[in-house]
Amino acid sequence: MFTHKIKYLYFALGVLAIGCQQQKTPIKTAEKSITIAIDDRVELLRVAYFLALEDSIDVDLKPCYTDFYQRNFEPYKKYKNHPLVQKIRTGDEWNADLPTIALCLDKYLQPKDSLPQKELIQQFGWYGAHLDSLSKLLIDFKKTIKFSNSYNVNFKPFLDAITASQIPEKLHQFFRTDKKTNLHILFDPLNRITNKAITFTNNPKNERLFLITYLCDQPNDTVKPLHLRWNEDYRRIVIHENTHMYTNEFFSKYYDNTFDSIVHQEKFKDTYHDIDEIMVRGITAKILALNYGKSVGDEEIKHQPKLSKMVYDDLERYTTNNQMPFEKIYKVIIDDLRTHFLTADNE
Ligand SMILES: [Zn+2]
Repeated sequence: MFTHKIKYLYFALGVLAIGCQQQKTPIKTAEKSITIAIDDRVELLRVAYFLALEDSIDVDLKPCYTDFYQRNFEPYKKYKNHPLVQKIRTGDEWNADLPTIALCLDKYLQPKDSLPQKELIQQFGWYGAHLDSLSKLLIDFKKTIKFSNSYNVNFKPFLDAITASQIPEKLHQFFRTDKKTNLHILFDPLNRITNKAITFTNNPKNERLFLITYLCDQPNDTVKPLHLRWNEDYRRIVIHENTHMYTNEFFSKYYDNTFDSIVHQEKFKDTYHDIDEIMVRGITAKILALNYGKSVGDEEIKHQPKLSKMVYDDLERYTTNNQMPFEKIYKVIIDDLRTHFLTADNE
């Protein structure tokens, strides 16, 4: 009965702009530029989230039935009537990425200072507006369920695989730059609904933080060990997120208020018009095509918004001219998109 409320995206990453500082978590490092960790604040709220919703959502959206689930979720099932769980169950303002709001609380689960309330309310509704209440509920929830955060997940094979995939090198080659980027991955083992980029306004310029799901690649009916394995989906996510870091400054430079008001006209309300995402998804598909074969890129672009195909095709002018700086093609494509919206009636 709640299924229709869940706004979820499989591997389609949105941008969550919240300005809380990233708390220090025990991050394991394979190489300086990519780290991965589980954040126990996010997991704590994730437990409450699924205690509230697991029984009422589609089987495809339920957490993967793993040894992690058995140890870190099942023991808490008797707390389904906790006020925080009830609040989530009866609320009308929530998304599958709700648990990420816990990143706005410090290690004692108190709201951090200088939070951009407007954005938080936009993203999280009631929870964004009432962080103090959420904090109190979460503190009580943690105490009541005797929350344990001894996760013991082995990230090494995943990090080794990322390193071996040489994605940073491939991106440098594509963008024709030696710009250094840092990726911080938050692994969210109970979540198989949404991958989400989290852009903290006070993150250093070339850093990007994002949440990844754990996906069940076999029927989700018996307990299986949790093994985070590098695969083509995670590969796409890492390329996509990195691409944001390489294109953010161009997006800010070329996407102005006029363009923003054009795409926000009533007649485009049913047209996908997040220009940043349209660009990044087209570019991601192109990077996939160049590195893993045209058929991989073509297949990827089929699953993306229609206008990303325009980006994908336009990039041909860049990839066949090795003298062209990336910014030049970015501007050309964004101008094409503007023209498209100026001349289109609707989709
Ligand atoms: Zn994105």
